[in-house]
Amino acid sequence: KTLELIAPLDEGMPGPEHFKITEAPVGEVTEGGLLLEVLCVSADPYQRSRIKSGAGAVAGPVSGFVTARVLVSKSPKWHPGDILGAALPYTTVQAITAEALDKTMAWKLTGLVDETTASLGLGVLGMTGSTAYGGFYDILKPKRSKAGEPNGETIFVSAASGAVGQLVGQMAKMAGCTVIGSAGGPAKCALLKEKFGYDHAIDYKTAATAEELKALLKECAPDGIDMYFENVGGIHFDAALASMKPGGRVAVCGAISQYNEGGNAKGGLGGQANNLYLGGLIYPQLRIEGFLSQRWLSGQKGNFLRDTAKMFKQGKLNVTETVTEGLENWGAAFQSLFTGANNGKVVVKVADF
Ligand code: NDP
Repeated sequence: KTLELIAPLDEGMPGPEHFKITEAPVGEVTEGGLLLEVLCVSADPYQRSRIKSGAGAVAGPVSGFVTARVLVSKSPKWHPGDILGAALPYTTVQAITAEALDKTMAWKLTGLVDETTASLGLGVLGMTGSTAYGGFYDILKPKRSKAGEPNGETIFVSAASGAVGQLVGQMAKMAGCTVIGSAGGPAKCALLKEKFGYDHAIDYKTAATAEELKALLKECAPDGIDMYFENVGGIHFDAALASMKPGGRVAVCGAISQYNEGGNAKGGLGGQANNLYLGGLIYPQLRIEGFLSQRWLSGQKGNFLRDTAKMFKQGKLNVTETVTEGLENWGAAFQSLFTGANNGKVVVKVADF
């Protein structure tokens, strides 16, 4: 079974009606290749840009991050029974060649998860974990303090209860920051404080403008913020930028409020900041930096898997997931990212376990 896009969707809300399932026989396993059983597939906001014609999307198989079990191995690197994470087509059972395997950025999850916990390889032990890790430690570069002591810095995280946001908030707390998060609605705001240890929670749905959001932020951080982990864009960006202390840093991870807009071939990742006045960055010496998780996921920078696995095993990272059953329900799971119906990492369980 393969999940396919029926036709590109340039703007508007994606949903189940845009995807279908097709079936085809499984190919042969060639020298150096593998036969994989996909256990779970991910739904991630970046996939919204991948279904826009301006970004080159055409009808056909959907790809993304998966966790899979090796059924047959003709590769010296992998053994039957191994569990791995990789970027692959969303096909339940698939033979992949040695060349394709090299391009998948496959990482080993054997020993960290079993099949019942394989979804973690899409979240804290996968692309999401590498995003939080790289964005917080390397892009924002929090001040260091003695373990357990405050570092004197305040961070604001948007989409703070989401898959990436919940990890950033907890990493920031461990680093000794005062942590403020924004999320949609009282239930998610309660979760921020009760489950993820945020000091302050802002229900952004109660603010209609950047000015109103800035006022809510000021109640939590009267002296301003040192760091902003940007997941949302739009008025969030404007409000955060206007609240930065001198020497502040912004890590631009995502701009999900813009992704369903048309017009930008790369998926509306522009941020649409209304009052980004470049001169305003000079005197306070602010830094705004966009980044992609790939550097950390591929191990080119840092060791996210070792470090996040350690934090997770020690019980320092709580995670929430929304698990949907069945590849045919992926479209609905994907939609939940844009309506906010999800609670943490969105995962679709594909295999029977
Ligand atoms: P989440 O689990 O955070 O899910 C998305 C959340 O975004 C929703 O639950 C919703 O939360 C919020 N949201 C959706 N639409 C809006 C809107 N219009 N305004 C405000 N909030 C909205 O997803 P992820 O953690 O997977 O991703 C978070 C961000 O990180 C995304 O922008 C994504 O593109 C980015 N990202 C970037 C990567 C990189 O390499 N740079 C890698 C991975 C993710 P609520 O209910 O609180 O509104």
